[in-house]
Amino acid sequence: MNIMYTSTRDASVKVTASQAILKGLSADGGLFVPEQVPVLDVSLKELSAMTYQETAYAVMKLFLTDFTEQELKDCISAAYDSKFDTAQIAPLVSADGAYYLELFHGATIAFKDMALSILPHLLTASAKKNHVDNEIVILTATSGDTGKAALAGFADVAGTKILVFYPKNGVSPIQEKQMVTQKGANTCVVGIHGNFDEAQTGVKQMFADQTLEQELAEHGYQFSSANSINIGRLVPQIVYYVYAYAGLLEKKEIQDGESINVVVPTGNFGNILAAYYAKLMGLPIAKLICASNENKVLYDFFETGRYDKNRAFQLTSSPSMDILISSNLERLIYRLAGNDAQKNAAFMKSLTETGVYEITDAMREGLQDFYGNYASEEETAQVIKELYEKTGYVLDTHTAVASGVYKKYKEQTADTAKTVIVSTASPFKFTRSVMTAIDPSYDAKGDFELVDELSRIANRKIPQAIEQIRTAEVLHHTECDAPQMPEVVKRFLNV
Ligand SMILES: *Cc1c(COP(=O)(O)O)cnc(C)c1O
Repeated sequence: MNIMYTSTRDASVKVTASQAILKGLSADGGLFVPEQVPVLDVSLKELSAMTYQETAYAVMKLFLTDFTEQELKDCISAAYDSKFDTAQIAPLVSADGAYYLELFHGATIAFKDMALSILPHLLTASAKKNHVDNEIVILTATSGDTGKAALAGFADVAGTKILVFYPKNGVSPIQEKQMVTQKGANTCVVGIHGNFDEAQTGVKQMFADQTLEQELAEHGYQFSSANSINIGRLVPQIVYYVYAYAGLLEKKEIQDGESINVVVPTGNFGNILAAYYAKLMGLPIAKLICASNENKVLYDFFETGRYDKNRAFQLTSSPSMDILISSNLERLIYRLAGNDAQKNAAFMKSLTETGVYEITDAMREGLQDFYGNYASEEETAQVIKELYEKTGYVLDTHTAVASGVYKKYKEQTADTAKTVIVSTASPFKFTRSVMTAIDPSYDAKGDFELVDELSRIANRKIPQAIEQIRTAEVLHHTECDAPQMPEVVKRFLNV
């Protein structure tokens, strides 16, 4: 079956997978969605015998139907290799009655590596396939983890340049150090005086700016996106849900066909949307549990059907989830609206103009697959401490938000279905918050002393990604206000 992609805001758009990957965002401001979600064509039992790479092929070939078998297999083997510190790529760890799916074994120790280690390969293959001669300029807004993962993926990739915009005071010290020490002549890292939403809005405006597009084209450049709005990021993220289920089946933790729940620490709604697509593909997932931190706009939405971003932005200890405009939710809204681009476009217009939209009761019916809740800062710290003291297993702050929400879910529903909690970052990436949750007196120590101490108490080797930045030189010093972002881009490109 050949899958084509349309826009969530314009039904007349019809492009191939590789064209959707190249463009990132549709010209009408909408997101690309597959015209239909394909169904898994191998059995769960067959999947349970597959490696990560084989699972990736079995899933991705169904979505990226204009890639040849060889092209896709080359992309997969270039991405999921020894950059990961375990051959399993995404191991499952059992602790205190749940399974933690560890998605932080890649080059930058956060789950963004799962998609961003393959996206550059998908993009360059897509450029070749569509006879694009322009250089591809990747524009990325980051709440902390996407930036480094995208930089690592695109650094020195021929035919590409990458610019990353992050909130100057909104990321962890280790996240910032990881980004500003990035090598590669094609990389540019910029701190924004503002929050993530301002950075993301700035990037979206540049994508929609036709004058800028024209100017760039005259100099042989075209934009693409490494944000989770790119379908080339969403599709690789479906893989690990299938792999996790198959892994539980293989270990005889579940029966063939038994439904499981997944808990996803959520910001931009990309990761949990991938889980939803996995469910639509036929993977037996019962509840999709959406975990928020104190920026609980999604929890309120699930409770009331009203999305309202008009509220104070909270800086929390889980900065990669400090988001008030969850871009990928648009793909769900579009589906709930019966794949009606016009209806969806009206909601999004309302969001842009007033910061609010409200879905209909009929649309709310479709939300029954989801459960939303949130964990406060205090609850998050408590979860880290309790799980560590009970089992010795140390969670990062984002995963702790998910674990705290799972606790609330179990208390409210008494549901005993086997549950996978998605572990999105290594605790080493948020060392200070993690260590002070365990014992507040750690706050007196320096960042790298804490790294050593975490390694000792968790009995976990310090990841390569952390060792690298201990002594690395800061190479990027640019800062700007959000409205100056286009100028920064032009200066970097000499346009
Ligand atoms: C990006 C990120 C999230 C949020 O994922 P979304 O796909 O944006 O919902 C959660 N945890 C960590 C560590 C992240 O880097």
